Amino acid sequence: MQIIHDFKIPVKKYSELSQNNNFPHPEECPHCHDQLKKHGFYPRYVITIDGKCQHCGRTVSILPAFLFPRFQRSLNYIVCCMKEYLLQKKMILYKRALYFYLHRFTCNIPGLIAFFRDKYHSLIPFKLSRIKKATKLIKMIWSSDAQILSKEYQDHFNQCFMAL
Ligand SMILES: [Zn+2]
Repeated sequence: MQIIHDFKIPVKKYSELSQNNNFPHPEECPHCHDQLKKHGFYPRYVITIDGKCQHCGRTVSILPAFLFPRFQRSLNYIVCCMKEYLLQKKMILYKRALYFYLHRFTCNIPGLIAFFRDKYHSLIPFKLSRIKKATKLIKMIWSSDAQILSKEYQDHFNQCFMAL
């Protein structure tokens, strides 16, 4: 399980602070509520902290809110690349990566529509084409705070809107 945490500092600062970031330490396992034993720092592309439950064996990791789970590029950059392409047909990233992101994003259109309907009472016309829905959604995400929306989406559906 991943807990998305907003460190409320810029990416650069986060990477400078590394293990000295103010990591939240979940005291109990979110699955079985037993005590979480060990915490370790894992420098992947970013530093994250993982805890493993001794009772049920599941892991809990803290992911900074400026990232999508399992994506290397920052969340705002990925959203910006998709926005530029959908709104202006501009490619600020090479094609293969961009299409990969767009594919993930469009797979989650139904989830995003449900999310905006449930949470913000924004309705997206059912009849629009896939690409028009994607364009409308990326505008809504871009005009708001993408990091906050992503965290809310994750809390709502327990997965990210770029997940398969
Ligand atoms: Zn547990």
